[in-house]
Amino acid sequence: MSHNISRRDFNKLLLTGAAGASFGLLGVPGRAFGASKRVVVIGGGFGGAAAAKYLRKLDPSISVTLVEPKSIFYTCPFSNWVLGGIKTMNDLAQNYTVLKNKYQVNVIADTAVAVDAYRSTVRLAGGTTLGYDRLIVAPGIDFKYEAVPGLTESISNTKIPHAYQAGPQTILLQKQLLAMRNGGRVIICPPTNPYRCPPGPYERASMIAHYLKEKKPLSKILILDPKDKFSKQALFKQGWDRLYPGMIEWRAALTGGKVVKVDAASMTVTTEFGVEKGDVLNIIPPQKTGKIAFEAGLADASGWCPINPVSFESTIHPGVHVIGDASIAGAMPKSGFAASSQGKVAAAAIVRLLQGKVPASPSLVNTCYSLIGPNYAISVAGVYKLTADGIVEIPGSGGLTPLNADKDQLSEEASFTVGWYNNLVHDTWD
Ligand SMILES: Cc1cc2nc3c(=O)[nH]c(=O)nc-3n(C[C@H](O)[C@H](O)[C@H](O)COP(=O)(O)OP(=O)(O)OC[C@H]3O[C@@H](n4cnc5c(N)ncnc54)[C@H](O)[C@@H]3O)c2cc1C
Repeated sequence: MSHNISRRDFNKLLLTGAAGASFGLLGVPGRAFGASKRVVVIGGGFGGAAAAKYLRKLDPSISVTLVEPKSIFYTCPFSNWVLGGIKTMNDLAQNYTVLKNKYQVNVIADTAVAVDAYRSTVRLAGGTTLGYDRLIVAPGIDFKYEAVPGLTESISNTKIPHAYQAGPQTILLQKQLLAMRNGGRVIICPPTNPYRCPPGPYERASMIAHYLKEKKPLSKILILDPKDKFSKQALFKQGWDRLYPGMIEWRAALTGGKVVKVDAASMTVTTEFGVEKGDVLNIIPPQKTGKIAFEAGLADASGWCPINPVSFESTIHPGVHVIGDASIAGAMPKSGFAASSQGKVAAAAIVRLLQGKVPASPSLVNTCYSLIGPNYAISVAGVYKLTADGIVEIPGSGGLTPLNADKDQLSEEASFTVGWYNNLVHDTWD
């Protein structure tokens, strides 16, 4: 039942406004309009929680089941702040009480282990099978450990954390930093593109530098990057020069940043140019879509899930929508804000599709703040629209903190960051 859309067909569908309807009707598995509709959501992170909430808000007649194994979800946004000693893990904790009690989302604490897109069912690890009229898959990311010779999932869990899913690995990395000697060396290895939160590794370097400057000022940070440029690069580098002069060294791929091997026993990283030893290693492997999306056959050869950008419906399995980091969302970065925004767009599209209507052309947004020091933040924002090339940023729609911004502006940005986070988690889980 694979249904790939050609570029020509897609252009035609967009122009007629019928993209969602065409795909949607293919995906409605034989239930009469008017009967009670069931939507199952896999994953209660930024994308899935927002989708579940907004489905119920937009059409309370839809029965929504959210499958998520964790009773507490720790947000990755602000997890770097934990490493900087500015926030605690408790500050990151979200739960599903409001979704359950206020929005009557049926939250099941379990893991989805199989999707049958032909029969429209999801099997859970606990043995339950759920039927659906529409399915939303929002599992986030998985890691390609095999892309870093010497690294395994077990080494990552115990000795060389990626800390790229907030939780036990964030705590492990924090403990390692606390235990490190003054004068120690932290090596951070960001992944290749595309990956979750493009500025994440560089905000992390900043927050670790903040902690080290206060507690272990003789220490250094080396960033070994497989890329030759990174998100908000000029702003980060200016911030590092101003706040942590001489502490952070960034090495691009061209100057020996590419890691070819890691050895957990000797705590060394081999690059194309030599061997580097660290006291703390933070290796963030290349990424791919979350396991369940992969196993459900929703990913293409890129390792991510192609979608119809009007409704986030899979172009491989009609009736299944993929949102958040797992999806290929054109120019949108893989961020919590983007995932939550996509959750709302998918919810609105599903409500219309279940009513036999055409989904509206969505407006998508992203705002991303990064903290460089407690009173020093930078931000980037963008508004996205659909074109024949998919989701593209509207030129001139966004904004970036100007280079050479003064202290007051950077301090204001830092306080906006806290407001931004509170609004985002409130809009998603409360
Ligand atoms: C260090 C760091 C800093 C970041 N900072 C920011 C920031 O400042 N701003 C920002 O916007 N974004 C930030 N991000 C990115 C953001 O965290 C992700 O983009 C966002 O979490 C993606 O949302 P998602 O819903 O796709 O996945 P997630 O939020 O990861 O949610 C996926 C959920 O699916 C569940 N799941 C997986 N498989 C199954 C299954 N089989 N069955 C049931 N449930 C399943 C998981 O348990 C998880 O709860 C940051 C990321 C990192 C790593």
